[in-house]
Amino acid sequence: MKILVVEDEPKVSSFIKKGLEEQAYEVDVAYDGFYGKKLALENDYDLIILDVILPRQSGLEVCRQIRAQKPSVSILMLTALGSTDDKILGLDSGADDYLVKPFVFQELLARIRALTRRAYEAPNNEILKMADLELNLTKKTVSRSNTPINLTAREFSLLHYLMRNKERVVSRVDIIEQVWETSFDTGSNVIDVYINFLRKKIDKDFSPKLIHTLVGMGYVLKEV
Ligand code: CA
Repeated sequence: MKILVVEDEPKVSSFIKKGLEEQAYEVDVAYDGFYGKKLALENDYDLIILDVILPRQSGLEVCRQIRAQKPSVSILMLTALGSTDDKILGLDSGADDYLVKPFVFQELLARIRALTRRAYEAPNNEILKMADLELNLTKKTVSRSNTPINLTAREFSLLHYLMRNKERVVSRVDIIEQVWETSFDTGSNVIDVYINFLRKKIDKDFSPKLIHTLVGMGYVLKEV
């Protein structure tokens, strides 16, 4: 598995590179945003670990540009700032997840495993349907009314989880455990942010609306 690390602090990038190589990952490192973007677009990485504050081009900008050209690559943002706004900005620019520096290496490994698992799952010829919404597990594609919809890896996993549990109320805790595959404190508003991303993509321009909020309980995917 090939990972790109874009991080300008040599101590942090060499710590990540060394640790990941010990786990048998293949690792490239870029020390500024511009070069990181160049490597990301020229090579096929399974995952990109991207710092937010970088010389030459910011991590958020790099993330947006990579995402525009490679919608399915997994992107994990590193942020030293830790404020909710920065996390949401990172997710809004197309990142699949974020990790606040300083972090424990085991936590980085857990995030990487969760983000890359989807790509290595055994092929599954299943197509899930709800109204005119279709999710193809083999091709990793989603469409509504036969209109293709581009989802990031995390949005796809979230929609997959909702479709597997259609007409059943799922709580934020269920989603954190099953989609984020973590019990780390990811912050429940991240789930709301992702539900909003999904709503914009699969519900906003279509009818009937499929994602419903049950205040104090969670979410349910159903036709009303
Ligand atoms: Ca930095």
